[in-house]
Amino acid sequence: MPFVDFAKLKSRVSIEHAVQMLSLSLNKSGAQLRGPCPVCNTGGDRALVVTPEKGLFYCFAAKTGGDQIALTAHIKGIKTSDAAGFLAGNSTVPVPRNRTVPGTVPPAPPEKGFRPLDYLQPQHEAVQGLGISKETAEAFGAGYAPKGILRGRLAIPIHDRDGTLLAYCGRTVKNESPTLTFPNGFDPHSVIFGAHKVQPGELYLVRDPLQILTAYEAGVENVVAFLTTITAQQLEQLASLMDEKKVETIELF
Ligand SMILES: [Zn+2]
Repeated sequence: MPFVDFAKLKSRVSIEHAVQMLSLSLNKSGAQLRGPCPVCNTGGDRALVVTPEKGLFYCFAAKTGGDQIALTAHIKGIKTSDAAGFLAGNSTVPVPRNRTVPGTVPPAPPEKGFRPLDYLQPQHEAVQGLGISKETAEAFGAGYAPKGILRGRLAIPIHDRDGTLLAYCGRTVKNESPTLTFPNGFDPHSVIFGAHKVQPGELYLVRDPLQILTAYEAGVENVVAFLTTITAQQLEQLASLMDEKKVETIELF
């Protein structure tokens, strides 16, 4: 197990990100996320409380709490060091299985256990130039790529519906064409960007993942994006997503 810097890890992987990585089904309740604890299986539908603002969780059933590493250790029943490894993307610990949604073709990850890029710069001036604060970029795990295949672009992670990291897209920071680039072998038709974060209620659909970040910057969440031309396959995915996440209405932008 490689050494994991806990403080660095915690600034990179928020507790909300950990909630997604753990596939926890929590609902927003005021400033908190609440839901059943899948491990304790007691305490009812509101036993597990995550307070994103504080980066902390509490399980009423187990009467235990702590940060995102402690949450991961609690949910997966593993040691703190293994939990940190899981959040860091080290695939030595079992990760939640990638569930196949009927009617969709699961995209093949570029490599097994795709690791978050650790060299992205959320504070880069080109990112600020797009109207994205460091905090928002960090919340999405996005940042300016100073190297790699997305060099010179804003790298934004793409997840599947369960929150598994699939790839990064590269959004231009200076009106270049194409606006979005994808790694070889990645099919942008295969995902709805932001689907893993969808909550019940009203959903917004946009055509550029950057808009999801700018909306978030302005306090609007529950936004998804199609990454390319809209196909029948994507409309089917959207309908199934709305059904699964109990989305009542959708606004197109
Ligand atoms: Zn619990």
